[in-house]
Amino acid sequence: MKDSKQQVSFMIWTGDSPPHVPVKELSTKLVISIIGNMSSTIRNFFPDLQVFPALGNHDYWPQDQLPVTTSEVYNAVADFWKPWLTDEAINTFRKGGFYTQLFESSDSSQPLRIISLNTNLYYSPNSVTVNITDPANQLAWLEAVLETSSQKKEKVYIIGHVPIGYLPYARNTTAIREFYNERLVKIFRKYSSVIAGQFFGHTHRDSIMVLLDEEEKPVNSLFVAPAVTPVKNVWQMESNNPGVRLYQYDHLDYSLLDLWQFYLDLRDANKKNESNWKLEYILTKAYGIEDLKPESLYEMAKQLSVPHSTLFEKYYSNFIVSYDKTIVCEEGCKTCQICAIRYLDYSSYTDCINQEAMWR
Ligand SMILES: [Zn+2]
Repeated sequence: MKDSKQQVSFMIWTGDSPPHVPVKELSTKLVISIIGNMSSTIRNFFPDLQVFPALGNHDYWPQDQLPVTTSEVYNAVADFWKPWLTDEAINTFRKGGFYTQLFESSDSSQPLRIISLNTNLYYSPNSVTVNITDPANQLAWLEAVLETSSQKKEKVYIIGHVPIGYLPYARNTTAIREFYNERLVKIFRKYSSVIAGQFFGHTHRDSIMVLLDEEEKPVNSLFVAPAVTPVKNVWQMESNNPGVRLYQYDHLDYSLLDLWQFYLDLRDANKKNESNWKLEYILTKAYGIEDLKPESLYEMAKQLSVPHSTLFEKYYSNFIVSYDKTIVCEEGCKTCQICAIRYLDYSSYTDCINQEAMWR
């Protein structure tokens, strides 16, 4: 990205620095030092770049158990991220691992608000938050921030690690607990005119989601970016190549215009003993849409839903970051993908799954 000669205004870093190894192989001290290493590596490569980080479920020890009050990890990470964040953001972060901050760009009139959520508090394996209606009062805080943004006519990018919605590779499964998913979908629908984009990580795969309002009108574009590290479960055929991406946005209203997805063919890199990052696709060109606004993304989603869509084959190949062109996603696999793209709440997602025959 540094060599791409593109003018980059800021970086979104969606977390999960520590290796995904058994709990006993890590410790609070190790996890803190890994996040510290990663933070200073990014700062060394991009000394003048504004970075907006978010915490991942592995950015804690024991993994997934992120707490609802201040902790040793939150405090240590706050110190690492001080060069990027305001005092107010750092103070909020110390209490619950989330923050908000304005990004002032030199060439746009209105600043952009970043809201970095600690969605790990809602992550299903987090046993600390079981039976808590609003962990760390983050939901109330989020609504208050969005309400103020709406009154001030600001635009907002939501960033976080664990995505909302349904997992595209597992049937009827949300990454965060269903209760929190329903709450968040409601909040994001209510403030959809303020939110210009949502960015997540965690799954290691490349996927999109379109948030529809109650009248099935597309109101938000959500992106799950693939990881720089591959991951593979025993029950999965596929893994992912490493990926990084560059988004283009409108300088006036921060609406999303396009994205360039770069990737590293890991098999090739291992064979040649050199890393040669390449452009994988440009979203508007790959899918024949005008921009990344909700209406365009919804158009794309409808195209992907057509039975035997060759565009969907391309989408699935991109989903696994061109890991293996011979792996196909049909029938039940495709149903899960399509329903996860188009429906983020329980009732519409379930209806979609029940109409399975339509997507094949
Ligand atoms: Zn994760």
